[in-house]
Amino acid sequence: MAKKNLEVKLISIPNNLLDVIYTACRTCYSADGAIEIINTITNDSEKKLSLISKVISSGHYSTIEHIQVTFAINNISRAATHQLVRHRHMSFSQKSQRYVKEKGEIDYIIPPAIESNPELYKKFQKHMQDTANLYQFFIQNGVKNEDARSILPNATTSSMVVSLNLRELIHLANLRLCTRAQLEIRMVVKKMCALIEEKEPWLASYLVPKCEKLGYCNEDNSCGRMKTKNG
Ligand SMILES: Cc1cc2nc3c(=O)[nH]c(=O)nc-3n(C[C@H](O)[C@H](O)[C@H](O)COP(=O)(O)OP(=O)(O)OC[C@H]3O[C@@H](n4cnc5c(N)ncnc54)[C@H](O)[C@@H]3O)c2cc1C
Repeated sequence: MAKKNLEVKLISIPNNLLDVIYTACRTCYSADGAIEIINTITNDSEKKLSLISKVISSGHYSTIEHIQVTFAINNISRAATHQLVRHRHMSFSQKSQRYVKEKGEIDYIIPPAIESNPELYKKFQKHMQDTANLYQFFIQNGVKNEDARSILPNATTSSMVVSLNLRELIHLANLRLCTRAQLEIRMVVKKMCALIEEKEPWLASYLVPKCEKLGYCNEDNSCGRMKTKNG
């Protein structure tokens, strides 16, 4: 039984990302064909970014769907993976609880709200240890992994490879960087966005909570970052 910390690694992003989006944008508005546009593409990044930001602001989002990025994620709770897989334009490959038998211990993610209180932390650990013991007891008594897993907690760690296009990444950031989203998924998405921004700093202004995109908070109660529509 061991507490684990989230790890996120960017494993794939196109190295000609600006060229792809710029070509997609120009193809819509140019008499030239897409092949001529990519074959004669400018080296001027400012020029490319200027057109791209205009096109994105106008809601012409198909142009950014051509960019696919892939992440490897370790030590994410099953609670958070369940939230991530609700996003229907993402692709996932997740560690199976059918094919993979948990070892003698269960690795877990503990919410800071529990970890920070010694009494609550102790109870949490006991619950995880009791569950690990019962899981092993079931396995030793011939229960298959796929059935023994029914007692595993939401805190159990998982691992996944996640792919999504840039449009979906922006949408994911808008929803899951909002303080109304649970802390763990917020941290996962924050790390994903930070890794993308390291490669493409211009995307930082898009990878924001929805209130920054809307200019107001559309939740019932604002966290204070932005006022609600009615103040
Ligand atoms: C703070 C928070 C709390 C939540 N609480 C709950 C909860 O209590 N219970 C619960 O069940 N879920 C909850 N969710 C999940 C939420 O309802 C969505 O399922 C999840 O956020 C995925 O969002 P999405 O559908 O916009 O995104 P995606 O699935 O990523 O889709 C992106 C966009 O594509 C379009 N789209 C995709 N599929 C369709 C479709 N079939 N028809 C029309 N348009 C489509 C929509 O415009 C959508 O916004 C919560 C999410 C958040 C962020």
